[in-house]
Amino acid sequence: MPVKILRYPQVTSTNLLAKDLALNKATEWTVVVAEQQQQGQGRLSRVWESQLGGLWCSVILRPQLAPEFAPQATLLAAVAVTKALRTLYATESIKIKWPNDVLIGQKKLCGILSELALTAAGEIDYIVVGIGVNVGQTSFSENLQDIATSLLIETGKTYTCTQVLDRILEVFQEYYQEWLQNGYEKIRADWLKYNCTLGNFVTVKDDTQIIFQGLATELDDYGCLVVSDAAGKQLKFDFGEISIR
Ligand code: ADP
Repeated sequence: MPVKILRYPQVTSTNLLAKDLALNKATEWTVVVAEQQQQGQGRLSRVWESQLGGLWCSVILRPQLAPEFAPQATLLAAVAVTKALRTLYATESIKIKWPNDVLIGQKKLCGILSELALTAAGEIDYIVVGIGVNVGQTSFSENLQDIATSLLIETGKTYTCTQVLDRILEVFQEYYQEWLQNGYEKIRADWLKYNCTLGNFVTVKDDTQIIFQGLATELDDYGCLVVSDAAGKQLKFDFGEISIR
Protein backbone atom coordinates (compact mmCIF):
# COMPACT_ATOMS: atom_id res chain seq x y z
CA MET A 1 0.00 0.00 0.00
CA PRO A 2 1.55 3.31 -1.04
CA VAL A 3 2.09 5.77 1.78
CA LYS A 4 1.71 9.49 1.18
CA ILE A 5 3.52 11.51 3.82
CA LEU A 6 2.64 15.19 4.28
CA ARG A 7 5.13 17.10 6.41
CA TYR A 8 4.53 20.34 8.29
CA PRO A 9 6.75 22.39 10.60
CA GLN A 10 3.82 23.22 12.89
CA VAL A 11 0.11 22.39 13.08
CA THR A 12 -2.66 22.78 15.65
CA SER A 13 -2.93 19.00 15.85
CA THR A 14 -2.09 16.29 13.34
CA ASN A 15 -5.40 14.53 14.10
CA LEU A 16 -7.38 17.69 13.30
CA LEU A 17 -5.54 18.13 10.02
CA ALA A 18 -5.84 14.45 9.10
CA LYS A 19 -9.60 14.49 9.80
CA ASP A 20 -9.93 17.52 7.57
CA LEU A 21 -8.00 15.79 4.79
CA ALA A 22 -10.05 12.60 5.23
CA LEU A 23 -13.27 14.59 4.86
CA ASN A 24 -11.83 15.94 1.63
CA LYS A 25 -11.28 12.47 0.19
CA ALA A 26 -7.65 11.89 1.16
CA THR A 27 -6.71 8.29 0.43
CA GLU A 28 -5.90 5.60 2.94
CA TRP A 29 -2.31 5.77 4.24
CA THR A 30 -2.12 9.50 3.90
CA VAL A 31 0.08 10.39 6.87
CA VAL A 32 0.32 13.86 8.42
CA VAL A 33 3.59 14.57 10.25
CA ALA A 34 4.42 17.75 12.16
CA GLU A 35 7.54 18.85 13.97
CA GLN A 36 5.41 20.60 16.58
CA GLN A 37 1.73 20.66 17.58
CA GLN A 38 0.24 23.73 19.22
CA GLN A 39 -2.75 21.79 20.55
CA GLY A 40 -1.76 18.15 20.65
CA GLN A 41 -4.70 16.12 21.94
CA GLY A 42 -4.98 13.23 24.36
CA ARG A 43 -8.18 11.45 25.20
CA LEU A 44 -10.94 13.28 27.08
CA SER A 45 -9.59 16.59 25.74
CA ARG A 46 -6.35 16.16 27.65
CA VAL A 47 -3.31 18.03 26.40
CA TRP A 48 -0.53 16.14 24.62
CA GLU A 49 2.79 17.94 25.02
CA SER A 50 4.34 18.10 21.55
CA GLN A 51 7.53 20.06 21.45
CA LEU A 52 10.42 19.70 18.98
CA GLY A 53 12.16 16.35 19.02
CA GLY A 54 9.08 14.12 19.15
CA LEU A 55 7.31 12.29 16.35
CA TRP A 56 3.79 13.68 15.96
CA CYS A 57 1.82 11.97 13.23
CA SER A 58 -1.65 10.83 12.19
CA VAL A 59 -2.50 8.06 9.76
CA ILE A 60 -5.71 7.94 7.72
CA LEU A 61 -7.19 4.44 7.36
CA ARG A 62 -10.31 3.33 5.53
CA PRO A 63 -10.77 -0.32 6.50
CA GLN A 64 -13.72 -2.07 4.91
CA LEU A 65 -14.86 -3.62 8.17
CA ALA A 66 -17.98 -3.35 10.28
CA PRO A 67 -17.79 -0.33 12.63
CA GLU A 68 -17.80 -2.47 15.78
CA PHE A 69 -14.28 -3.55 14.86
CA ALA A 70 -12.98 0.04 14.66
CA PRO A 71 -11.74 0.20 18.29
CA GLN A 72 -9.32 -2.60 17.46
CA ALA A 73 -7.39 -0.04 15.40
CA THR A 74 -6.09 1.49 18.63
CA LEU A 75 -4.78 -1.86 19.83
CA LEU A 76 -3.34 -2.52 16.39
CA ALA A 77 -1.45 0.77 16.50
CA ALA A 78 -0.17 0.10 20.02
CA VAL A 79 1.12 -3.33 18.99
CA ALA A 80 2.69 -1.94 15.81
CA VAL A 81 4.45 0.92 17.63
CA THR A 82 5.70 -1.42 20.34
CA LYS A 83 7.06 -3.99 17.92
CA ALA A 84 8.64 -1.29 15.73
CA LEU A 85 10.37 0.41 18.67
CA ARG A 86 11.47 -2.89 20.22
CA THR A 87 13.19 -3.95 17.02
CA LEU A 88 14.67 -0.57 16.12
CA TYR A 89 16.02 0.11 19.61
CA ALA A 90 16.79 -3.53 20.37
CA THR A 91 15.04 -3.56 23.75
CA GLU A 92 12.20 -5.55 25.25
CA SER A 93 11.52 -3.05 28.00
CA ILE A 94 8.92 -1.30 25.81
CA LYS A 95 5.41 -2.37 26.82
CA ILE A 96 1.76 -1.53 26.28
CA LYS A 97 -0.41 -0.16 29.04
CA TRP A 98 -4.07 -0.74 28.23
CA PRO A 99 -5.46 0.64 26.07
CA ASN A 100 -3.36 3.18 24.27
CA ASP A 101 -0.10 4.00 26.01
CA VAL A 102 3.33 2.66 25.22
CA LEU A 103 5.71 2.74 28.18
CA ILE A 104 9.39 2.16 28.70
CA GLY A 105 9.95 1.06 32.26
CA GLN A 106 7.18 2.86 34.16
CA LYS A 107 7.19 5.99 32.02
CA LYS A 108 5.14 7.01 29.03
CA LEU A 109 6.86 7.02 25.66
CA CYS A 110 3.93 7.18 23.30
CA GLY A 111 0.23 7.96 23.25
CA ILE A 112 -2.28 6.89 20.61
CA LEU A 113 -5.57 8.61 19.85
CA SER A 114 -7.89 7.01 17.28
CA GLU A 115 -10.91 8.84 15.93
CA LEU A 116 -13.64 7.21 13.89
CA ALA A 117 -16.08 8.71 11.37
CA LEU A 118 -19.00 6.81 9.84
CA THR A 119 -20.76 7.37 6.52
CA ALA A 120 -24.47 8.22 6.39
CA ALA A 121 -25.05 4.52 5.74
CA GLY A 122 -23.33 3.64 9.02
CA GLU A 123 -20.16 2.21 7.52
CA ILE A 124 -16.62 3.20 8.43
CA ASP A 125 -15.69 6.28 6.45
CA TYR A 126 -12.27 6.74 8.02
CA ILE A 127 -10.24 6.13 11.14
CA VAL A 128 -7.55 8.65 11.98
CA VAL A 129 -4.90 7.09 14.19
CA GLY A 130 -2.82 9.74 15.94
CA ILE A 131 0.53 8.56 17.25
CA GLY A 132 2.81 10.68 19.40
CA VAL A 133 6.23 9.26 20.23
CA ASN A 134 8.77 10.95 22.47
CA VAL A 135 11.83 10.28 20.32
CA GLY A 136 14.50 12.87 20.96
CA GLN A 137 13.32 15.23 23.68
CA THR A 138 15.80 15.76 26.49
CA SER A 139 13.33 17.20 29.01
CA PHE A 140 9.61 17.58 29.75
CA SER A 141 7.48 20.17 31.49
CA GLU A 142 7.36 19.99 35.26
CA ASN A 143 4.04 18.17 35.50
CA LEU A 144 5.20 15.45 33.08
CA GLN A 145 8.75 14.85 34.19
CA ASP A 146 7.82 12.04 36.57
CA ILE A 147 5.54 10.22 34.11
CA ALA A 148 7.03 10.88 30.65
CA THR A 149 10.30 9.99 29.02
CA SER A 150 11.89 9.78 25.56
CA LEU A 151 13.70 7.11 23.62
CA LEU A 152 16.82 9.26 23.66
CA ILE A 153 16.73 9.66 27.44
CA GLU A 154 16.13 5.96 28.04
CA THR A 155 18.42 4.39 25.44
CA GLY A 156 20.93 7.06 24.46
CA LYS A 157 20.30 6.17 20.82
CA THR A 158 19.82 8.98 18.34
CA TYR A 159 17.47 7.68 15.66
CA THR A 160 15.66 10.49 13.85
CA CYS A 161 11.88 10.90 13.90
CA THR A 162 11.87 9.93 10.22
CA GLN A 163 13.66 6.66 10.92
CA VAL A 164 11.21 5.91 13.72
CA LEU A 165 8.23 6.80 11.53
CA ASP A 166 9.46 4.61 8.66
CA ARG A 167 9.81 1.60 10.95
CA ILE A 168 6.41 2.20 12.56
CA LEU A 169 4.67 2.48 9.18
CA GLU A 170 6.34 -0.67 7.90
CA VAL A 171 5.18 -2.75 10.89
CA PHE A 172 1.79 -0.98 10.99
CA GLN A 173 1.12 -1.99 7.37
CA GLU A 174 1.94 -5.63 8.10
CA TYR A 175 -0.49 -5.77 11.01
CA TYR A 176 -3.11 -3.87 9.02
CA GLN A 177 -3.02 -6.40 6.18
CA GLU A 178 -3.29 -9.18 8.72
CA TRP A 179 -6.26 -7.43 10.38
CA LEU A 180 -8.15 -7.04 7.09
CA GLN A 181 -7.44 -10.58 5.94
CA ASN A 182 -7.63 -12.64 9.11
CA GLY A 183 -9.16 -10.44 11.78
CA TYR A 184 -7.88 -9.50 15.16
CA GLU A 185 -6.40 -12.75 16.55
CA LYS A 186 -2.74 -12.09 15.73
CA ILE A 187 -2.99 -8.51 16.98
CA ARG A 188 -4.62 -9.71 20.18
CA ALA A 189 -1.96 -12.39 20.67
CA ASP A 190 0.87 -9.87 20.26
CA TRP A 191 -0.95 -7.36 22.44
CA LEU A 192 -1.06 -10.01 25.16
CA LYS A 193 2.66 -10.64 24.70
CA TYR A 194 3.57 -6.94 24.98
CA ASN A 195 1.14 -5.68 27.61
CA CYS A 196 1.96 -4.78 31.22
CA THR A 197 -1.64 -4.35 32.40
CA LEU A 198 -3.13 -7.83 32.72
CA GLY A 199 -2.41 -9.49 36.03
CA ASN A 200 -2.14 -6.15 37.82
CA PHE A 201 -4.42 -4.41 40.27
CA VAL A 202 -5.96 -1.42 38.52
CA THR A 203 -8.03 1.58 39.44
CA VAL A 204 -10.56 2.55 36.78
CA LYS A 205 -11.40 6.24 36.69
CA ASP A 206 -13.52 8.46 34.54
CA ASP A 207 -12.51 12.08 34.21
CA THR A 208 -13.19 12.88 37.85
CA GLN A 209 -13.78 9.83 40.01
CA ILE A 210 -12.88 6.24 40.73
CA ILE A 211 -15.40 3.85 39.17
CA PHE A 212 -14.00 0.43 40.03
CA GLN A 213 -10.92 -1.28 41.42
CA GLY A 214 -9.74 -4.83 40.88
CA LEU A 215 -7.51 -7.23 39.03
CA ALA A 216 -7.20 -6.77 35.26
CA THR A 217 -7.81 -10.31 34.06
CA GLU A 218 -8.56 -10.30 30.36
CA LEU A 219 -8.73 -8.50 27.03
CA ASP A 220 -12.00 -9.47 25.35
CA ASP A 221 -12.66 -9.98 21.65
CA TYR A 222 -13.42 -6.31 21.10
CA GLY A 223 -10.46 -4.97 23.05
CA CYS A 224 -12.37 -4.28 26.26
CA LEU A 225 -10.54 -4.75 29.54
CA VAL A 226 -12.10 -7.21 32.00
CA VAL A 227 -11.58 -6.30 35.67
CA SER A 228 -12.57 -8.46 38.66
CA ASP A 229 -12.83 -7.23 42.24
CA ALA A 230 -12.22 -9.22 45.43
CA ALA A 231 -15.94 -9.97 45.81
CA GLY A 232 -15.92 -11.69 42.41
CA LYS A 233 -17.74 -8.89 40.60
CA GLN A 234 -16.52 -8.63 37.02
CA LEU A 235 -16.87 -5.55 34.80
CA LYS A 236 -15.77 -4.76 31.25
CA PHE A 237 -14.45 -1.40 30.20
CA ASP A 238 -14.04 0.02 26.75
CA PHE A 239 -11.53 2.75 26.35
CA GLY A 240 -13.55 5.77 25.43
CA GLU A 241 -13.99 7.41 28.73
CA ILE A 242 -11.75 5.91 31.36
CA SER A 243 -8.19 5.82 32.58
CA ILE A 244 -6.47 3.19 34.65
CA ARG A 245 -3.73 3.48 37.22
P1 ADP B 1 -4.15 8.74 29.99
O1 ADP B 1 -2.98 7.96 29.47
O2 ADP B 1 -3.82 9.63 31.14
O3 ADP B 1 -5.33 7.85 30.24
P2 ADP B 1 -4.18 9.99 27.36
O4 ADP B 1 -3.81 8.69 26.74
O5 ADP B 1 -5.23 10.78 26.71
O6 ADP B 1 -4.62 9.77 28.86
O7 ADP B 1 -2.87 10.88 27.45
C1 ADP B 1 -2.91 12.20 27.93
C2 ADP B 1 -2.00 12.33 29.13
O8 ADP B 1 -0.67 11.96 28.80
C3 ADP B 1 -1.87 13.76 29.63
O9 ADP B 1 -2.88 14.04 30.54
C4 ADP B 1 -0.48 13.78 30.28
O10 ADP B 1 -0.53 13.28 31.60
C5 ADP B 1 0.30 12.78 29.47
N1 ADP B 1 1.15 13.41 28.42
C6 ADP B 1 0.94 14.53 27.71
N2 ADP B 1 1.92 14.75 26.82
C7 ADP B 1 2.80 13.72 26.96
C8 ADP B 1 4.00 13.36 26.32
N3 ADP B 1 4.54 14.07 25.33
N4 ADP B 1 4.61 12.22 26.73
C9 ADP B 1 4.10 11.46 27.71
N5 ADP B 1 2.95 11.74 28.35
C10 ADP B 1 2.30 12.86 27.99
